[in-house]
Amino acid sequence: MLDTTIDALRDLLGDELVRTDADLLATRRHDYWAASHLREWRGEPMGEPGCVVRPTAPEQVQELLRYASRQRIAVMPFGLGSGVCGGVLPNDDVVLLDLSTMTRTRRIDEHDLLATFDAGKNGLEAEEEVAARGLTIGHWPQSIAVSSVGGWVSTRASGQFSTAYGNIEDLVYSIEAVLPNGDLVHLGTAPRAAAGPDLRHVVMGAEGTMGVVTGVTFSLRRQPEVRRCTAFAAPDMPTGIEAQRRIIGADWRPPVMRLYDHSEVRRNFPDHVVDTSGALLMVHEGPAVRVEAEVGDVTRIATASGLTPMDASVTEEWLTKRNHVPTWSDFFEMGAVVDTIEISAPWSRIDAVYDAVLASLGEVPGIVNASAHSSHVYRSGINLYFSFAVLAEPEEMEARYFECWHRTMEATAANGGGIAHHHGSGRLRVPYLHHDLGAAGIDLLRTLKRAVDPAGIMNPGNLIPPA
Ligand SMILES: Cc1cc2nc3c(=O)[nH]c(=O)nc-3n(C[C@H](O)[C@H](O)[C@H](O)COP(=O)(O)OP(=O)(O)OC[C@H]3O[C@@H](n4cnc5c(N)ncnc54)[C@H](O)[C@@H]3O)c2cc1C
Repeated sequence: MLDTTIDALRDLLGDELVRTDADLLATRRHDYWAASHLREWRGEPMGEPGCVVRPTAPEQVQELLRYASRQRIAVMPFGLGSGVCGGVLPNDDVVLLDLSTMTRTRRIDEHDLLATFDAGKNGLEAEEEVAARGLTIGHWPQSIAVSSVGGWVSTRASGQFSTAYGNIEDLVYSIEAVLPNGDLVHLGTAPRAAAGPDLRHVVMGAEGTMGVVTGVTFSLRRQPEVRRCTAFAAPDMPTGIEAQRRIIGADWRPPVMRLYDHSEVRRNFPDHVVDTSGALLMVHEGPAVRVEAEVGDVTRIATASGLTPMDASVTEEWLTKRNHVPTWSDFFEMGAVVDTIEISAPWSRIDAVYDAVLASLGEVPGIVNASAHSSHVYRSGINLYFSFAVLAEPEEMEARYFECWHRTMEATAANGGGIAHHHGSGRLRVPYLHHDLGAAGIDLLRTLKRAVDPAGIMNPGNLIPPA
């Protein structure tokens, strides 16, 4: 980045906000994408932002974007860098906008059950602040301790308790954002609106391509009166999936429903392996009378569907271990490249997707694991979260990694699934987005981008396929 650009930014925002110290730049080269970690581990040259801007207030973000739009300088938002699809991959021409310095809690309203945070607020800290008042946001991504509330909105995240409480789009009441021209917008003013299209969705899931989320208001809920765990052995995935379809069809909503195939049970819960079966783990929460009724009827449905009750301690074990964050380099050191890929499909297609993806991954040279669990259930279908591990020489790891992704994306789309459940697109899914959006949908996305960001400054190369 030209020194004159950095000087101009310093004149505009002050020296404190515009940083070029080597230590900081080095920690802002990428997010948690396995491919970026692999390149770094192999010692390949990695890009680095020209500078890092660390705002503390939305007005400073407005100043920056006004200037960047006029001067056509690329701006890449960074929350806490836990994204896993390459949403953050700057080079020297980029101003990395580091939201992790915007961390205020603006208000917690116990009457209206609303809480507003700056976008860079750490998710776990936000949850702990409302929990101290007997409330909950109800959003529990595995990465809760290492992700920001603005990142959640920007990636359309899902939490582990989503089956009852919903995904981020169900939990967000309103969004404050700065558009690329510097305008500050407040999207959402009341519990519900029929005032035209829901403009929150212009920035929700836009992964920093349409502007910058600066504040998020959540609609809270009171903490549940009771929590109970159940667990069932499932002879195979189709039987476990059918049991979940029937449970949801009967209008029960356990917040957590997780069905692991046998390979994942062996890996994650070795003390609970039942012959060659998978396992369905459920957490039930809410008023005691409802939870009691739910546990009773869900047990009846699961058993009638061919599942066998297991000791619920396996679910309690999951609750205690569930937020472990893996270190990619540990796997690289062992000669393996690994990742997870989340997709979803309607009930009628999900078994075909599961079979097709595992069969396709099984053809990758060096594959030592291809497995899946489901973790988010809907009235019309369910997600699957594939895991793969491939053994390869260091120089072949990247090719194997992309081959696994390619096979999973293509097999999912070919069998009627949606290619992205909750990690977003980043740069990784750009070549596959047409499967979900279609050619006309991609055109619409590009048209929207041109209208909102005519100078094309916001996170170029991310999410939106090039024309
Ligand atoms: C171990 C692990 C477990 C995970 N588990 C889950 C899970 O259970 N559920 C789930 O949904 N995800 C999960 N993720 C993925 C990741 O945590 C989410 O995508 C999270 O929402 C990203 O938040 P972040 O603050 O770290 O964003 P970042 O990684 O910093 O950014 C993500 C993207 O959003 C953009 N962005 C960030 N903040 C803003 C902003 N304020 N305004 C505009 N654009 C912005 C960035 O430019 C980038 O494109 C997991 C990741 C890891 C490493």
